[in-house]
This record gives sequence, structure tokens and C-alpha cells, in this order.
Amino acid sequence: MNQSEKPTALIMIFGATGDLANRKLFPSLYRLYQKGKLDRFAVVGVARRSITNEQFQQNVRDSILSADSNDTNIDDFISRFVYHSHDVTDSNSYATLNQISDELDQRYQLDGNRIFYLAMAPEFFGTIAEHLKMDGLTNVAGFKRLVIEKPFGRSLESAQKLNEQIRTAFAENEIYRIDHYLGKEMVQNIEVIRFANAMFEPLWNNRYISNIQITSSETLGVEERGRYYETSGALRDMVQNHMLQMVALLAMEPPIRLTTEEIRSEKVRALRSLRQISGEEINQYFVRGQYGEGNLNGEELVAYRNEDMVDPKSNTETFVAGKLMIDNFRWAGVPFYIRTGKRMLTKQTKIVVQFKDIPMNLYYQTEQELQPNLLVIHIQPEEGITLHLNAKKSGQSLAAKPVKLSYANRGIDGINTPEAYEKLLYDCMRGDATNFTHWDEVALSWSFVDNISRVWENTPEVSFPNYESNTMGPKAAHDLLERDGFHWWPVTMLDVETCK
Ligand code: NAD
Repeated sequence: MNQSEKPTALIMIFGATGDLANRKLFPSLYRLYQKGKLDRFAVVGVARRSITNEQFQQNVRDSILSADSNDTNIDDFISRFVYHSHDVTDSNSYATLNQISDELDQRYQLDGNRIFYLAMAPEFFGTIAEHLKMDGLTNVAGFKRLVIEKPFGRSLESAQKLNEQIRTAFAENEIYRIDHYLGKEMVQNIEVIRFANAMFEPLWNNRYISNIQITSSETLGVEERGRYYETSGALRDMVQNHMLQMVALLAMEPPIRLTTEEIRSEKVRALRSLRQISGEEINQYFVRGQYGEGNLNGEELVAYRNEDMVDPKSNTETFVAGKLMIDNFRWAGVPFYIRTGKRMLTKQTKIVVQFKDIPMNLYYQTEQELQPNLLVIHIQPEEGITLHLNAKKSGQSLAAKPVKLSYANRGIDGINTPEAYEKLLYDCMRGDATNFTHWDEVALSWSFVDNISRVWENTPEVSFPNYESNTMGPKAAHDLLERDGFHWWPVTMLDVETCK
């Protein structure tokens, strides 16, 4: 489909009374509608609760108004929403859903195009996909696409099982596995920074880069998601998907073309080059943490083990740091350090590419040691790029001082930066699967992560909790880099505020 073409589809949202639908999906669809990017469309909201169409439409209105103050034309938008109270295991319920869909298809001339968005607990994914086929909902004249939220399984084995179930109803190219990081402006920008700049691509290898650091930290704890988090932990919740996807984008070879297939196949090759670690070795490469109590501006923060729905003796990690090695010609010897966790000092996602020191440091003897060059990609909440260089300090001396060149995306593009879900929904409607995860990527990431979780599950961490809330994680995460002669670049130094 041409970029300017407006997609046409019936969007069926399973879990339409849930948090994701209300906070992200409805406002994103509305923004697409406001921007004139949707042509003919209708939405069927599906969930367990028994509510009327009017109540559902009011929910959608509330969700849009709480996200955007600009509410022009909201009535027409909302009139296209219909609700169906649904039992995911009951064939009769799917038959009614099919009828509603056919009616909407005719009323809005949707060409038999259907998108099934599963914004529900993952245990239902397989059952729903099977029923969609069995009960005729996928038997359409137009396209059919399945959008599926994380988590996609909790191990390679369970992911394979789920994949087999959904593949009975959808072909691989009809499955859109969401990793919302791939919808983020600056994650998409990684490729542009790398492949559209003559000054980076020649340096993007083990001759010039000493290490790469990726941090994705949250200040919040598990909130009310304790039950889910206990079965997941930071490794499955963040590393298997978002962190490894960022590693793949940073490490992949330039694709020969910017097509979905070419980009994905380069990402898959990067993931295949990840050094597999297992058994005792895990402790040399990975660190786990769990938050204890802490204090934030006088407010007492509870330890993870005291959160709701969490086992008081829980062995679940709320923090992971790791050293990844990519064993190929480009990256041999360059560690990719990752860390992610809850209840950390700052909420941020940043990538720091640290370049090697120059061969002979003429300015080393002056007042201050030269800093290495850094390229910092600010993913969220700030969006931008900062280049850390050295320049001459003004005056008579030959001393150098660090300087920063910054590009702040928000500052220039302002509020126009689209939200990740808005972009991903639009991509799916247009049939562009580039920023969704292919099964091969899912399988490779699980097999990498499974080796670690197997060891951690069999050896409870006796030092838990091992980091105080409102800090940057356990000491061991710092030791991990120190052993290699590196350190995590301090958040304050990388802060966008200080680099204008
Ligand atoms: P939620 O608990 O808020 O909503 C669940 C929805 O599923 C509700 O609409 C509920 O009515 C419906 N439902 C539950 N059981 C049902 C049944 N038997 N039959 C029919 N409907 C049923 O969940 P959520 O936070 O919206 O998350 C949905 C999915 O999205 C999950 O897979 C989650 O991991 C994923 N996700 C959520 C977020 C987020 O920000 N909330 C972010 C990333 C991924």
C-alpha cells in the first residue's frame, strides 16, 4: 500500500475494557482519525463485562478526553464503536461476533478486511486464535491480521506452543507481534543514525567502539501487577523482548534494502551471533537484583517482597544487568552491556555508544583526563541524540574540555512525535510488519534467555533484596563493568538537561 493511502479495516479489540485499550489503543486510533489517516473503519470492542454499546462508547470518549484535550469530531469517531460481551471459549459468542462484524463491514464498506487485536491476558491468545478460525471469523474476502501483545510465551517451549496454535489460523505474515519499543521514534531512529550518516557507519565496529551500554530503568515498582510479575521478572518482561530488540538494531549489518524481510533477516543474523552462555558461566555475564525498601522525597517505598500479590520469599528479579557478546567479525570483543529494572533512581531509556580512546593522547597530561567520545541516543522520556566530544578550553593552555552537541527531537518536532501505539496500529493497518517481531526473532531471544532463567530458577538468590529502592541497582551490576575496565556512564552526566 502506498504511504498516502488510507487503510480500510474492521478492528476487533479483545480486552476492550482493559487498561491497554483505554490508555493506549483508543487514543491512538483517535489521533490517526484526527490526522485523516483512517478512511473507512469500525471497531468492535470485545470483553467479558456486560455493558451496553452506549456505556462502551462513553468509556472510549472518556479515554480519549483524558489523553487529548482536542476533541473535534469525536462523535463521528465514537459512533463507529460497537461492543460485544464475550466469552472467549464459547463458539456461540463468536458466531454473534461474526454477525456483528459482517453488519459493520457492510455499513462502512470495509472490504472484508479484519484486524484482530488481542489486548488480553496471554493465556487466552491461543484459544482465541483457534476459535477465530473454527467459528468462521477469519473467513473473509479481504485481509486478516492478528495483533498480539506481549508476553509471547514465557519460555521457548511455551512460545512454540502458542505459535503453533495461532499458526493454525494465521500465516506468519498475518501475525503482528507487538514490541512497543519498536514503535518508539528514537528506536526507529537507530537505523537512520547508523545508515544515513557517513561519520558513524565506518566507525560502527570493534576497531572504534569499545562498548555499548543500554539502560532502561523505571522508578515505579510493580504497582498492581504483582501477580503477573511473579511469573515473569525483569528478564522475561524486558530483556527477552525490548532489550534484545535494541541490541539487534544496534548490532545488525546494514540491510541491502529497507524492506521488512531484509531488515528482519539482518536482525535475526545479529541475534544468531549472540554468544550463548549457560550453567555457571551465567554469573560472569549476568547479575540479578530485587528491590528492597527505600525512600523517595520522604515517602517510604516498600520492598518488592512486601508488594501486593508477591510471595514474601520471592526469588523474582526486578533488575537485570548483563554483558552480551556478539561473536561475529564486526563485534568480536565489544561488550554490549544492558541493564533494566524497577524502582530505580530515574525513569529513562538510553543507549550509550562509547568509542575507543585515540591512539596517542596529546592532551592527557593536562588538568583533566580526556573523556572518550560518546554517542548517546535518548529513547525516552527525552528523545534525541547527544555527541560527547573534546574541544580546546578557551585561553592560553592546551587543555581540552568535554563538549556536547545535542539534538532534542521533542524540542524541534514538538508534540507531533506520535505515540508508539499510534505508529504500530497504522503500520498494521497498512500491512507493514517491519516494526513487529518475527517468529525467528522471538525464538532466538527465548532460547538465549531460557539459559539464564533456568539457572536462576534453580538457584535462589540468597542476597535478595540486594538493592535499595531509588538507586541504580545492586553493586554487582557496577562490578560487572569494572571487571572489564569500564563503568556505567552516570545518568546525571548524560542528562539531556545538561547537554543543551
Ligand atoms: P487488563 O487486565 O486491564 O484487561 C484485560 C481485558 O481482558 C479486559 O477487557 C477483560 O474484560 C478482558 N477479559 C479477561 N478475561 C476475559 C474472558 N475470559 N473473556 C473475555 N474477555 C476477558 O489487561 P491490560 O493491562 O489491558 O493488558 C492486556 C494485554 O496487553 C496483556 O497481554 C498485557 O501483558 C499486554 N500489555 C499491556 C500493557 C499496558 O500498558 N496495560 C503494556 C504492554 C502489554
